[in-house]
Amino acid sequence: MAQSVRERCPLLIQSLLSIVLLFTLFTGAQSETLRWADFQAAQPDPSWFQEADQRLDLATAIHHARQGDFQPLGSRPRSFGIGAAPVWFHLAVQNPGNAPRTLDLVAGATWIDRIDVHVVRDGRRHERFMAGDGDRAWKRPVAGLGYHVRHDFAPGITDIYLRAETPDPMLMPLQLLSPGQFQALQERTRYTYGLVYGFLLALLLYNVLLYLGLRQAQHRDYSLYLAVFLLMNLAYTGHGYNWLWPQAPGIQAYSILIGMVLFAVTGLRFAGTFLNLAGHAPGLQRGLRGFSLAALALMALMVALDRQTSAALLAFTVVLVAFAVMLVLGGLALWRGYTAARYFLLAVISGSAGAIVTTLTVWGWIPYSAAGFRAVEFGLLIEATLLALAVAYRVREHDRARERAEQRARVDPLTGLLNRRALLEQGEGLYQLSRRTGGDLALVLLDLDHFKRINDRYGHAVGDQALITVARVLQQASRRGDLAARWGGEEFVLLLPGAGLDEARTVAERVRSELGHQPVRELGPAIALRASFGVAVQEEHENLTELIREADEWLYQAKREGRDQVRSAAPAPWPGEPDQT
Ligand code: GH3
Ligand code: MG
Ligand code: MG
Repeated sequence: MAQSVRERCPLLIQSLLSIVLLFTLFTGAQSETLRWADFQAAQPDPSWFQEADQRLDLATAIHHARQGDFQPLGSRPRSFGIGAAPVWFHLAVQNPGNAPRTLDLVAGATWIDRIDVHVVRDGRRHERFMAGDGDRAWKRPVAGLGYHVRHDFAPGITDIYLRAETPDPMLMPLQLLSPGQFQALQERTRYTYGLVYGFLLALLLYNVLLYLGLRQAQHRDYSLYLAVFLLMNLAYTGHGYNWLWPQAPGIQAYSILIGMVLFAVTGLRFAGTFLNLAGHAPGLQRGLRGFSLAALALMALMVALDRQTSAALLAFTVVLVAFAVMLVLGGLALWRGYTAARYFLLAVISGSAGAIVTTLTVWGWIPYSAAGFRAVEFGLLIEATLLALAVAYRVREHDRARERAEQRARVDPLTGLLNRRALLEQGEGLYQLSRRTGGDLALVLLDLDHFKRINDRYGHAVGDQALITVARVLQQASRRGDLAARWGGEEFVLLLPGAGLDEARTVAERVRSELGHQPVRELGPAIALRASFGVAVQEEHENLTELIREADEWLYQAKREGRDQVRSAAPAPWPGEPDQT
């Protein structure tokens, strides 16, 4: 056991390390691109102002900015939470040169419904862009990044005012980049998503194939969970809106939220299947199913009533609850000694921690960072790797259990010798082999004398000890390749390939005298074990059973002639000795 843990660990650590490495390689530099200082902005950081009850127009927003009503955003993007009132953002960009300079503004999470971008020179609007996934006429998101606006900044100061509005979490990272930086960022983003989707698609395919081949529910449910995560991720990164439903902002509005609820529901379902909740805790299983159905029904209701903010609150809450429950389930299973749960628990900790961190980051409870935002992808990659190991572990457990069962079916539990069935199976092979090759083969059959008396006088447990002693003596008497078996109650067989009659008789005699000298502790010194022996060698017999039958006849004769002796056909005379038959 300790050995196999050591065997598995390098694999585990290697897989985890390579994931971490690849992921940080592609995402690591992302947070460094926000460099306002590069553009010598008139004020160091962008600032923000939240609308109260009434909608502001640009002129009023500019007025508020000049009055100092805007607050600095700080060096980090922030989330204003779910269902926040529209927020204005202001950034002043200074071009110190005397030629126009092209810069790229990347703003917002990909799910923001509507972003009005006003480019202002000398207090007057110079240019206006509409972005957001709330209308298909507006600028579409750059998948995985946000909304992108390119502008040629004239020398001097240019003010940018953005008004963001969304019923979903109001998350507005802002980045001002040179076209080169933007291109590099876009490439890095594509590579990371290529990596994530490639990995998850391969795993999905692998599990679908496993399900088709093995028909085990855990593979079906895991495939479902992965597929839903893929869809949800495609939705919230904007890949879905760009690739799958480009003409349908209506689908876009709810796809993320429905995706989140399905992610939670399929996650719970997989956890239930993997941990066999239906068998171990049927009440809990019913409870989780009830929770899942309620979440789905509520979400359907929100969609029907078109209550996007309530739907968002519901989706985020359901995800948090479901992943907390999965953590508890893994812990419980582990506590109850379900070994495969160790992997499951580790997997679920990574997956849930990732999901929880991303959820809280987007919701605004944790300060925004690129790593926090993408924690769920990272967590899922680790989770998937560990779950693959968990499944492999289960397959191994299965194999071990089968091996143990096969072993049990062949071995006599009291003495550890082969049982009758195993002797017939293995012995028949040896028998036919020596028949074909003309080699010798002998068989010794022994039966304890008056064994019933030992049982009667000292009890069954002492009788058992005597049988174990016989087994030990037989094992000591056998060479490599010999078979020692318990034939029945107190009858034993030694099958000796390569042995002729003399040799087999010698072995039988040795066992007989050994038995007489074996102290069975509880028997006391006065009583020794005695047995009668029948020996037969392979000659004209059809099969092993015939050979055993002959040995049994000799054994019967030994009993009849006074017990405690070895009987067989007459041994071949020594050269020079007269035949005694
Ligand atoms: P004989 O010399 O004629 O062989 O006399 P015996 O008493 O040995 O023969 P018998 O066949 O009458 O009795 C065999 C006894 O072996 C009966 C049974 O209770 C006992 N026996 C069989 N299997 C076991 C076992 O697994 N454990 C114990 N303690 N006794 C067993
Ligand atoms: Mg007996
Ligand atoms: Mg008997």
